Amino acid sequence: MSSRNGKLLRRCTTNGSPSACGHSWEPRHKMPKSTGGSNQARSWNLSMFWFFTGAVIVFHLFAVFVVLPLYKNGGNRSNFPFPANSCSGNEQRTETSVLKEDEISVSSTSGSIPISVDSVINLDHGDPTMYEKFWRQTGNAAELVIPGSQTMSYFSDVTNLCWFLEPKFAAEIRRLHRLVGNAIAGPDRYIIVGTGSSQLFQAALFALSTSPEVFGHGGGGRPLPVVSSVPYYSSYPAATDLLQSGLFRWAGDARSLKEGDKPYIEVVCSPSNPDGLLKTASVSSNSGKVIHDLAYYWPQYTAITSPADHDLMLFTASKCTGHAGMRLGWAIVKNREVAKRMMKFIEVSTIGVSKDSQLRAAKILKTVSDQYELEAAEDFTKLFHFARKTMRDRWQTLRLVIAASDAFSLPVFQPQYCNFMKENTLPFPAFAWLKCEQDIDDCESFLRQKHKILTRGGKHFGADAKHVRISMLDRVETFDMFIERLSAIDL
Ligand code: PMP
Repeated sequence: MSSRNGKLLRRCTTNGSPSACGHSWEPRHKMPKSTGGSNQARSWNLSMFWFFTGAVIVFHLFAVFVVLPLYKNGGNRSNFPFPANSCSGNEQRTETSVLKEDEISVSSTSGSIPISVDSVINLDHGDPTMYEKFWRQTGNAAELVIPGSQTMSYFSDVTNLCWFLEPKFAAEIRRLHRLVGNAIAGPDRYIIVGTGSSQLFQAALFALSTSPEVFGHGGGGRPLPVVSSVPYYSSYPAATDLLQSGLFRWAGDARSLKEGDKPYIEVVCSPSNPDGLLKTASVSSNSGKVIHDLAYYWPQYTAITSPADHDLMLFTASKCTGHAGMRLGWAIVKNREVAKRMMKFIEVSTIGVSKDSQLRAAKILKTVSDQYELEAAEDFTKLFHFARKTMRDRWQTLRLVIAASDAFSLPVFQPQYCNFMKENTLPFPAFAWLKCEQDIDDCESFLRQKHKILTRGGKHFGADAKHVRISMLDRVETFDMFIERLSAIDL
């Protein structure tokens, strides 16, 4: 016999099997056999009545005072991994010291097309679905079949420093940079592949903050400050501080860093997410290390004026070809020791990077370069021409709407000569850095609450709440509906 709480239950062991009597457990004090009239049975019924009545009252109190208030707050105390924005349009984002607002705050409208004129329009993420149209029209040129027996080993090329980098992918990366002329990526540069450039950003922080020069400083000033000039990409603070590393720590605006001989890391994102401007390092000191995030240094977004040749450059398929879901990025690194430490980070965190994705990426980049090297190819089959035309049309439309409105303004850009397109061109950034004018102090709330347009507020970029970042990379249906709704705003 066994008992739970010492009185209620015992195991039914009639024939040695607990299930032989239908239930594993039965009341220890069996109900008296007699029917009706027994006092014992009546008091048992009464106890059960009060027990269930009590339980119902406790349940209701819990629902009214605990669950309901939470639900009213958007059910959302910490926004990760749950939606920060949902379509009800009145939730507040929350922030804790560890889980800062980052790039991916998934909501029920993320990745979907608004279906009716009053649907929520989600332009919070830089989800590059605009490119689907291009890839649909390439037919099977970028298709890839991988037999079950392939890509099974961890290893891709053990003769390469980056042993998990697929040689075909590396070759296509170098070829594409040569074709576009946006980065020096010859054989004397190390290519490190990552699960998105997001992983490479973390690998770079690790590699730079553990460099012997920094240790030579007696580990001076650890954790190392990581800075970027405002407005900076909203994921940098969260990605830097997620693990509360003792090696480095987010320190905000690069311009607020006092110049001295203390080591630091500056992240330069150019063209900049969120405002589309070209940037250079703000701090100039020999003890600083710079990560150049060149996710948007492609001809659809900006003029390619010269091949970038920095010590550590990050690129991503997400914003080059639009394949964000492939989760592939690459770093181009000059220094072997830095490259080795970045490798170490990826080895330890994920033992390499998906080979399937790399083979697919190789095929996709090959398709892009092939189209440019085929003499007779039409412009609409060329990725950068397609994307640049789409971006130019969208920016023209947006500027027309903004020009006719007193409520908003946009940054003004200067044209530059693009060596790749062989013409002068304005920038057509992946995001519109929109400013609310007049007395709208919180632009993000204004657009969300009054117009059901989800954007990312300026504070996430270290800037003011009068600014918001709006993705220009969504599908045509979403963009058109956004333009329609924006045009109707009348203050
Ligand atoms: N850097 C910048 C500036 C970005 O905008 C993004 C994507 N939004 C990334 C890095 C991360 O790209 P990935 O998808 O390769 O992780």
